[in-house]
Amino acid sequence: MEARRAIAEAKAILLDWDGCAAIADRPQPAALSLMAARPQAFAIVSNNTSHVRGFFADRLRTGGVLVEPERVILAGIETLLRARQLAPRRTMLLGTPRMEEAARRMGLHLSNDEADLVVLLRDTRFSYAKLTQAANALRRGARLLVGNPDRTHPSAEDLVMPETGALMAALLTCVEPSSVEVEVVGKPNPTLFLRACEALSVRPEEAVMIGDNPDTDVAGAAPLGLRCILVEGPGALSLEDLVA
Ligand SMILES: [Mg+2]
Repeated sequence: MEARRAIAEAKAILLDWDGCAAIADRPQPAALSLMAARPQAFAIVSNNTSHVRGFFADRLRTGGVLVEPERVILAGIETLLRARQLAPRRTMLLGTPRMEEAARRMGLHLSNDEADLVVLLRDTRFSYAKLTQAANALRRGARLLVGNPDRTHPSAEDLVMPETGALMAALLTCVEPSSVEVEVVGKPNPTLFLRACEALSVRPEEAVMIGDNPDTDVAGAAPLGLRCILVEGPGALSLEDLVA
């Protein structure tokens, strides 16, 4: 099978997490076999904006696969790294408490007052008050940095869970979009893919990206020269097919 040969020939394997390497944060057996067979050649590339790298490494370790945190590439953490690069005076961060802690550890000064940068991650405590503060910060000229453009993700109970993109839509509805400088870090933008290739010391054309979302995984990876393999979905392969 062509996809299986592509994986065997690739110097590196980039794996999406949600719906690919794991379902509802539970690593899938087929994904674990794939990673165990190439323990130094894979990286996780996820649009997750609510967890830090250790969470994923722990989940994989429970499944018997060891991965250094440097090979877990996350939209949330990459967004904080990008925020630090922008050297804001004050950052308003909308995100989970653990992402706030990560941001502080990176040296970002978090404040909801007079922020010159708004960082939007999947904030499970999103509120009217925060929306008001963030919208007015943007109106005063703050830049907006967003973790990912995804509107929803599925839950274990098959519910729709609002994602970072849904919060971005709410925020941008409150302002004149053309007046705001918006940067989205997660897939389909190139940052995560390039970071993963860097972590594995390969060029994009030497790697394959395995994902379940044509709009983010494939649309983002293909223009960089990465070989893309779509799993699940109509007419697509299953991960089991790839390791059979
Ligand atoms: Mg996915």
